[in-house]
Amino acid sequence: FAFKGCQKIRGAQIRVLLEAKEFFLFDCDGVIWHGENAITGAAKVVNALIRRGKNVVFVTNNSTRPRENYVNKFTRLGFTDVMLDQIFSSSYCSALYLRDVVKVRGQVFVIGCEGLRTELLEAGIPCVEEEEDDPDATIYNCALAPDVKAVLVGHDDKLTFLKLAKASCYLRDPECLFLATDNDPWHPLSGGRILPGSGSLTAALEVASGRKATVIGKPSRFMFECISSQFSGVDPAQCLMVGDRLETDMLFGSNCGLDTMLTLTGVSQIEEAQEYRSSDLTTNHSYVPDYVVDTIADFLPAFEE
Ligand code: PLP
Ligand code: CA
Repeated sequence: FAFKGCQKIRGAQIRVLLEAKEFFLFDCDGVIWHGENAITGAAKVVNALIRRGKNVVFVTNNSTRPRENYVNKFTRLGFTDVMLDQIFSSSYCSALYLRDVVKVRGQVFVIGCEGLRTELLEAGIPCVEEEEDDPDATIYNCALAPDVKAVLVGHDDKLTFLKLAKASCYLRDPECLFLATDNDPWHPLSGGRILPGSGSLTAALEVASGRKATVIGKPSRFMFECISSQFSGVDPAQCLMVGDRLETDMLFGSNCGLDTMLTLTGVSQIEEAQEYRSSDLTTNHSYVPDYVVDTIADFLPAFEE
């Protein structure tokens, strides 16, 4: 399309693009919702795409909930047609990776929220039991499980020094895999506050272990492989990846050969995309979106007859 290339598109251009694409991948936070609030018009857009027979899937790096919780959240926020098999979260894809790719034998030590453990257990992957809060437990006197074959790091709002210490011990064994649900540095909260992301926890363990984690979530290609294996005939050329963060969503799309769209309702600004575009470093060009919109609600006029 003549209008392709890191610029805002509107009206007829959006209509042409939506007609041309068959498969829509939406990032969640910053595109579909902000925390518990749906982005205005997003539900209408998603419902309209689904009713027009387009394939719609959601790719989120948020590892804190099992997929069932996302279905409930979608319904609660007015996305009435979204089903379990449309949801690809970094926790679900981590479970698939452990089960189907590395076929882990032994237990997984999880740094993460309960939802991540739930997702692993549903896939039949044994996790080291969470210990009760024993104020006297330290790395000097605690027990270590003998058969830990992977350490998986996700977002953990109950992180303790002891968990980091145990993970560091398990990672001494070169046979023990080191995985991260995602590598997100931080997440925006309202009022200018932020939440440190899993990437910050993974970084701590990378330093302690001298190893590099394998990242499952965006921008790694693995989430797209999960989608391709569950939907037959996904052609990258017919996909549009819509996201709000250049370093995760646009790079993910680019890594998977998908057209990318930045929506300005989240983390990244159009100026940052333009800076990447004018960079001499060609690797920076993978962060540049093919299209930009202010919000996915800009799709709505395209559905009017
Ligand atoms: N992980 C956590 C813990 C989050 O809170 C968020 C966003 O709120 C994300 C990841 C990023 O999610 P997404 O990939 O849907 O933007
Ligand atoms: Ca996002």
